[in-house]
Amino acid sequence: MSDQPWTVGRLLHWTAEWLATRGSEFPRLDAEVLLSHVLSCSRIELYTTFDKVVADEPRTAFRELLRRRADGAPVAYLTGQREFFSLPFKVTPAVLVPRPETEQLVVRAIDLYRKSGKVRIVDVGTGSGNIAITLAKHLPAAVITAIDISNDALAVAKHNAEFHGVADRIDFIHGNLFDACDLKMQWDLIVSNPPYIREEEFDGLPRDVRMHEPKEALIAGPRGVEVIERLARESVTRLLCGGWLLIEIGPPEESEQAVDACLHLKRHPTLLDLADIPRVIHAQMQ
Ligand code: GLN
Repeated sequence: MSDQPWTVGRLLHWTAEWLATRGSEFPRLDAEVLLSHVLSCSRIELYTTFDKVVADEPRTAFRELLRRRADGAPVAYLTGQREFFSLPFKVTPAVLVPRPETEQLVVRAIDLYRKSGKVRIVDVGTGSGNIAITLAKHLPAAVITAIDISNDALAVAKHNAEFHGVADRIDFIHGNLFDACDLKMQWDLIVSNPPYIREEEFDGLPRDVRMHEPKEALIAGPRGVEVIERLARESVTRLLCGGWLLIEIGPPEESEQAVDACLHLKRHPTLLDLADIPRVIHAQMQ
């Protein structure tokens, strides 16, 4: 057995079985993404080189990645990249790994402003910059402000903006929500995927998330809705008349109440994600 050569096919098969015993939810996918990363090829190419023997050097690098994956490190941190809205984003442990459900918010924002000329957008809690940058790519006349409380996250977001050629239309601000923004700064559209998890939920999160993703990007406080409440309240002074507020949320009731408590915001029905879960608060400034 051990003197059989380690071909691509054999490595994938062995690794998928091994990762399955180490708590990976998608062991075959993880194996393919990590092996294609060390071999600098696409996942499809693995299938055309199934019988090719993998050299010692990439195999050593692969083994190291597998060790970290078995410790729960998300695949995106191991490869340093994740796709969002079909665009590649650099990610590090300083930023949340972009999630497909967040694409729903981006779709709505593009729908609202695709026919507009210049539109001023702010992304509050930009993380890797996935929302801000995707909007900049799809709304070529948009000028965007991207805020984050973490300087390390902003460095990742700036790198991504440069990579995608939109850095000249995005202004990066280091701050807690709007605290670092001049009082006169106002926008047509506020987008945010803020922290919305309750403190006591933390221990129940999947290991990969709990131990590896930035806690401050996930946890809002004892009730989970604290950041959303503040964001909704402050949006009233930051939105131009007719402007929109789009916020990704967890359980909808308290988030909807937080928006309903703001006199000038007219809330529309919460948008569902692809799994039919209410996901995006959607309100317009009157
Ligand atoms: N905007 C980023 C995302 O949607 C980061 C969000 C966050 O850090 N809470 O993934």
